[in-house]
Order: sequence, then C-alpha cells, then structure tokens
Amino acid sequence: VSRPGEETPGGGIIGHAGEMGLIRGAIAGGRLAHSFIFAGLDGIGKRRVAFETAAALNCASSGLAGLACWECGDCERVRARTHPNVLYVEPEAGLIKIDRVREVQAALKYRVERGRKVVVVEAADKLNAQAANAFLKTLEEPPPATVIILVTSRPSELLPTVLSRCQRINFRPLSVDEVAGYLTRETGAKEAEARSIARMSGGSIARAACLLEDGMETSAAGVIEAISAISPGEADKAVGLAEELAKRDDLEEVLESLKGVYRDMGVAAEGLDALVAKTHLPERRAPAWTAMPPWEAFSLVEEARRNTTPPRYMNRQLTIETMLLRLTGCNRHARRQR
Ligand SMILES: [Zn+2]
Repeated sequence: VSRPGEETPGGGIIGHAGEMGLIRGAIAGGRLAHSFIFAGLDGIGKRRVAFETAAALNCASSGLAGLACWECGDCERVRARTHPNVLYVEPEAGLIKIDRVREVQAALKYRVERGRKVVVVEAADKLNAQAANAFLKTLEEPPPATVIILVTSRPSELLPTVLSRCQRINFRPLSVDEVAGYLTRETGAKEAEARSIARMSGGSIARAACLLEDGMETSAAGVIEAISAISPGEADKAVGLAEELAKRDDLEEVLESLKGVYRDMGVAAEGLDALVAKTHLPERRAPAWTAMPPWEAFSLVEEARRNTTPPRYMNRQLTIETMLLRLTGCNRHARRQR
C-alpha cells in the first residue's frame, strides 16, 4: 500500500530547502562527500532527497549542476528504480543482512560509463552488526564515482564506526504550514482539519497521511485523548487501554506520535518554541495529563517503542501497560494506597 508520503520519488520535495541547497552546492562544486547519513523523522522526505541526489548525479541534461530535470531517460529510470547506476537497499523481514551488502559490493565493482553510482540504503539502522561491519570498508573508501546514502530515522542505533565514516545531514521536521499545505493540496482536506492533523503529525507527511486516513479519533490523536482521560486512581482503565493498543498494527506509529507531542511539550515548557519548526501541540488544550516532566515521558515512550520493535520484541501488552501506568501516574497512586 502506497501512502502519499511514500509514493515513487521524482521531484515534489516538500521543504528541506537548506538540505537540498547543501547537496546541490556540493555537486555543482565537485566536492560531494562519498558517504552520507540522512537523519530525521520518518516520513519527512529523506528518501525523496536521496533519489533527487541520485537523479541529479545521473541526469542527462543537468550537466552535474546539482539539479535533476525529471524528464530525461536517466531521470525516468531513477524514478522507476530501474537505473543501472542507482542501487536501492531496504530491510527484508525487519533486517538488512550481510548477503544484501555483498550483492551491493559486487555491483559496485563494475565501472560506470556515465554519471555516478548511488546506493540508497533505506532504514540503515536495520543493518545488523555483521552487515554493518562488512559495509565499513565500502563506506570509508567507496569505489570511484560512487555515493552511498544511508537513510535513517534512528541514527543513534547505527554503529559509531559507521556514523564516523559518513557526512551527516540532519533533516528538520516539516512545519505545520508545509504539512497542512500538502494535505489541502494533495488530499483535498479542509484547511481546519489539515492544520489540526499537521499539528499532530510532528512534522511528518507519512504520519499526517495515516492520521487523515484513519481519522483523528481512532488514531494517535484518539490515543492521546484516551490517555489524558485516565486519572491516577484508574489503573484498570490504563490496563484496558494497554490491551487495546497492544493489538494495533500501527503501534509503532502511535508511539512515535506520542513522542512528538511530549517533545513539543518539553520544548514549549522550556520556552524554546522558536527553535522547533512551529509547535505541533494539540490545539484544543495543553494536556494536563503529564504525571512527569515531558522529557521523562518522551524517554519512557521511546523505551516502550524500542522494546516492542525488532530486535527486542518484548511482550507488547506488558510493555505498553507499564508505560501507561507510569504516564498516567497510576503506578505511584497504587503505591500510596498500599
Ligand atoms: Zn534528467
């Protein structure tokens, strides 16, 4: 299923003028690094920028000016993912294994006649240790005319040795205006709904699309509402909600949305609103349901996310229950009553 944030690349980049400017300048100036990490939230367009880079480096009409025309045969083949110079790697069953790395290394041995080879590694944090280690030498000294781009929303989960060999570009979350603009333009959403969803999206087009598709009530927004409705004496409610959440296929997305809200609360609490790409706080009210400082809540949700996704796969119900009991203050309340 292709969501709006994930459609086939080929122009249409939203925001990221700074990030693109950096890359275009480096291409035009002939000083593009060999290995990159594109880091930033899921669904904000990192992969699009990676493909834009791949197209710019192979476009028949750009003359290495750093711009892809998206009209020539080369650009068309990059868009269709059939360009011989552009290799795309993504996890299979949650992991990128050493066999796939070896395939890429073998393919990189062939010289290119024109343009440059570009390897785009999607979700590079899913390289297992063996695969990452096998990849190190290629990252350090790629074959001539080769650019490797590791795309990840969790750079901290990459090996330090991998991180240190790549130039890192941090992608900023999109602003509320950018996300809302996309939603009204591409999905026909009404302005008010689009802005409300954009605020909940944490600056991610993919997340906004999910929120729009599922409806605000059943998705993360609804979950946040449900959490905020639980008071510290209502542990049974928290346990019930945990049971419901643990069954959801989009649990990871829900947890990411929760993190986005806590992050914005944390930033707002420190009076640093100007630093975030506009605040994504829910419009209706500043939630009064934090039983702990926002940054602590953020870490708690992140811990639950890590524990319920590969490679950990801990018991989902138990993990979410523990998280919710602490987020709602039910754990402390229970202790006081004993
Ligand atoms: Zn072109």
